[in-house]
Amino acid sequence: MDKDRLDPWGTSSIKDYSRLQSEFGIEPLAPLVSRFKRPSPHISRGIDFGQRDLGRILDAVDNHKPFAVMSGIKPDGVFHLGNKMTADDMIYFQSLSKKATVYYAIADVEAYADNGLSYQESSKTAVRNVADILALGLDPDRAVVYKQSEEMKVMKMSTIFSRGVTNNMLKAIYGERQIGLYMSALIQAGDILMPQLPELGGPKPVLVPVGADQDPHIRLCRDLAARYDSEFGFIPPSSIYHKLQLALTGGQKMSKRIPESGFTLDNTPAEASGRIRVAFTGGRDTVEEQRRLGGRPDICPVYDLYRFHFAKDDEHSERVHRECAKGVRLCGECKQEAIGLVKGFLTDHHKKRDALMGEAKDLLAKSRSYLSSTGNQ
Ligand code: SF4
Repeated sequence: MDKDRLDPWGTSSIKDYSRLQSEFGIEPLAPLVSRFKRPSPHISRGIDFGQRDLGRILDAVDNHKPFAVMSGIKPDGVFHLGNKMTADDMIYFQSLSKKATVYYAIADVEAYADNGLSYQESSKTAVRNVADILALGLDPDRAVVYKQSEEMKVMKMSTIFSRGVTNNMLKAIYGERQIGLYMSALIQAGDILMPQLPELGGPKPVLVPVGADQDPHIRLCRDLAARYDSEFGFIPPSSIYHKLQLALTGGQKMSKRIPESGFTLDNTPAEASGRIRVAFTGGRDTVEEQRRLGGRPDICPVYDLYRFHFAKDDEHSERVHRECAKGVRLCGECKQEAIGLVKGFLTDHHKKRDALMGEAKDLLAKSRSYLSSTGNQ
């Protein structure tokens, strides 16, 4: 049997999420679900499926201790549905405790290494990306948003880490890659461990919500946390993993590199509707067959739209699955309902985001001066 492939910069293929435990050591989320008083839709619908040391974060929530939630976005374009999933997880964990601080990195160094995007170009996208996450519900009062290229703490740490890794170690985790990508991985480790520096309150649990394909970064970072424990007292970062959403074009994963495989929060309602209208489905060849055999929601990207993002609640998501599997629901009407939900969401999101562009700029400026005041330069 082929091994699953986890490539944070390319095409990942995950056929069996349970195998990630034996292959990569990702622990199942299920034994911890009862600890959530108010599980998020990602948790209750089984989209978040795995974790490393998540119990440490739940302990911090229960004991009102500080913790950080850290992730970022590569500003190589607009916010896509994968970015929304990570953002939804960050916002959810931020909402669990007044002691939670979100750190959100604008990964412009990675955008340069992976996509050749200049810092000037990514700077323009960054404000829009921050407005997107604010519109989704991030609380700006407990958030620090910064550009990797400007944050000297991150840069200094990545330089320190570069002495502790060898080419072979990076090759074992990522395969043979350009040095620029290896460097961006070390910078990302700096991002994840920065909240534990003494000037930012010292060692604390840090949760990184990611898609399963980003696990190589988590493994590297946990390894570095252990190597530099005596110097910094780092607590190995915790992580929670979400499944990858099926591509509207029928592949295993939506990808920014294939625009028609999904849509972004920048697409107009009409553009998104067009992509859903022609999307691959888990439907049968004829109406008669679908009525008789039922559809296959588990291989259907339209069902993923409901389950991952747009179902009104868990009951709605389950009903779509049930009606599809029993052949009560046909693909045409199902797509039409999904289009209505997506149009409503995008129209509302665009209004909110446009109103938050000023606040996004302010948050970047405020975070910059906060980080500088903690001894940035
Ligand atoms: S009825 Fe809906 S969920 Fe089922 S296969 Fe068709 S589009 Fe997918």
